[in-house]
Amino acid sequence: MKKMKHVTQTENEDVLRVDMGDLEIIGYGRSSVSVAGEVVQGWIAEGSVCPKCNATLIYNEVFDSHFCPECNEWWERACSDPGCDFCGLRPPRPLKGPLA
Ligand SMILES: [Zn+2]
Ligand SMILES: [Zn+2]
Repeated sequence: MKKMKHVTQTENEDVLRVDMGDLEIIGYGRSSVSVAGEVVQGWIAEGSVCPKCNATLIYNEVFDSHFCPECNEWWERACSDPGCDFCGLRPPRPLKGPLA
């Protein structure tokens, strides 16, 4: 389900801002998340935290997996199916940088 409206204002209740260390994370409803300017299709997984650093996890809808924006690591391991549409195309790191 995609929202058709384009959210640009932080006063909008769909926009969720999370400040974690140096990272500025902004979630736009259930459509996209901006992590320090890098836009990911998915949403902030409120209530799910990284066991290593306690950061709030983000769900990447494209690769069907959660990741930690601080550790820059996928939370779910890739499955063993080499033909899997999700895991086969998943990059080693969820974010391109600057942490990668
Ligand atoms: Zn972490
Ligand atoms: Zn898979």
